[in-house]
This record gives sequence, C-alpha cells and structure tokens, in this order.
Amino acid sequence: MIPLKEPWELVVMRTAGKKLAEIVAGLREQVFVDMTTLEIDRITEEAILAAGAKPAFKGYKVGKAVFPATICVSINEQVVHGIPSKRRIKAGDLVSLDFGLIYGGYYADTAFSVILGEGDEASKRLLEATEAAMLLGIEKAKVGARVGDIGHAIETYVRPRGLGVVTQMVGHGIGRKLHEPPSVPNYGKRGTGDLLKPGMVIAIEPMITLGGDRTKILNDQWTVVTEDNSRSAHFEHTVAITPAGPEILTRLD
Ligand code: MG
Repeated sequence: MIPLKEPWELVVMRTAGKKLAEIVAGLREQVFVDMTTLEIDRITEEAILAAGAKPAFKGYKVGKAVFPATICVSINEQVVHGIPSKRRIKAGDLVSLDFGLIYGGYYADTAFSVILGEGDEASKRLLEATEAAMLLGIEKAKVGARVGDIGHAIETYVRPRGLGVVTQMVGHGIGRKLHEPPSVPNYGKRGTGDLLKPGMVIAIEPMITLGGDRTKILNDQWTVVTEDNSRSAHFEHTVAITPAGPEILTRLD
C-alpha cells in the first residue's frame, strides 16, 4: 500500500527537503577538482549534522551490504551508489552526488551531476538532457496521473537524443522510510501503473547514459556501473503530489 501523507507530515517533509536543498547549494560551491570523494563525504555529513538532521544513507542495508558513508559519489561510468574513497576527482570528470537526510522522522532524497573542470561536449549534453528529463517527469506528477506517465515523459525525451535509460534502478516513494512504494521507473507507458493521489511523495530520479541501458554492480556490492562503460548522469528530487500540482520539496524557492 502507498502511504498517503497528512498535511502535518508534509510540513515536516517540506522542512526536511529545504534543509537538503540548502546543503546541495553549499556543496555546489565546495566540490572541486583534486578533492577526494571522502572529503566530499565529510563536508556533506558535517552540513547535515549542522542542520539538525541525520544522514539517510549511512548504515543503509541491502541484504548483508551496509552502505558506509553519507553520500554516494559516482564518477563517469559509475551510475549510482559509488562509495567515497581516497580517489581524487580529475578535470573533466562527470560526478554524480546522491544523498539524503532524516529530519523529524522523515526522509528527503536528492541527487545532481556536475562536470568538474573543462568537460567534453557529450558529457555536457548528457547532463542537460538528464536534468531536463527529470523536470519533464516531475511535471507529470499530478493528481489523477499514473506512475507510467512520469516514466513515459522521461524515456520519450531521452531516447530520441541517442541516450540510454537505466532500467535496473528506479525512483521510489519516500516518507517515514527512504524507500516506500510505489516504484517510479524512468520508462513506461502512459496511463499505466499506480494512480497518483494527493499526499503521495515520490523521488523522481532518472539515471541516463551515453550508451546502453544495462548496468552491473561492482565487487564492493554497491557501485553500479554501466555495462558498456559509457558515462552516466543522475538527477533526483523529492516531489509531493498536491491538488495544486507537483511540489518539489528538495529545491530552494
Ligand atoms: Mg532515491
């Protein structure tokens, strides 16, 4: 069953989302070439704690695997769930940052990609298309629409541009848990899937590649990479379905 949030719960989630958006704005100013991904993790964790919140990903379990860090840093062919390490970011790297926080018992989840230093044209195109696809998907997140409408909007924007859509990972409901129903795929047919109702909150998060759709998981049990080694970008917002339309909780006004 998809949990519908009460108005007071949305108030808390709005605050959680705003805190996360402020941290994103700070991170955009603080991430540079030559930094290690562990340094990014430290900055992010400090900012979350300073905001009176807790990291959502640290200690997150899938089976026996426990995610050890606050933020996922995924570089180039890494799609999502990259583990912070001593690896230094190089000029031209496409870096995807994905993280969440818990505030007042509720989760907020967001992601964005950046090219650090001088990037190549293909990577810039990928980045722009992924963010645009996310925003098109969000526009479809209206009362009375269906989950498939979101995926359809994303996929039909991205495919004609010769880009791949990661299908093995999907967006999700969010609230008292990081991952709640429904699943929100980045592909699909119009008019199919769960009906969107007021009080639903979902994370819409296209993962788009310069190559094919397929991914695999590295031996560290977390890092998802493209099978064909092509670069990948990732954007995500936490979005509330309201009678007034989709409300992006993880964006500053
Ligand atoms: Mg997510």
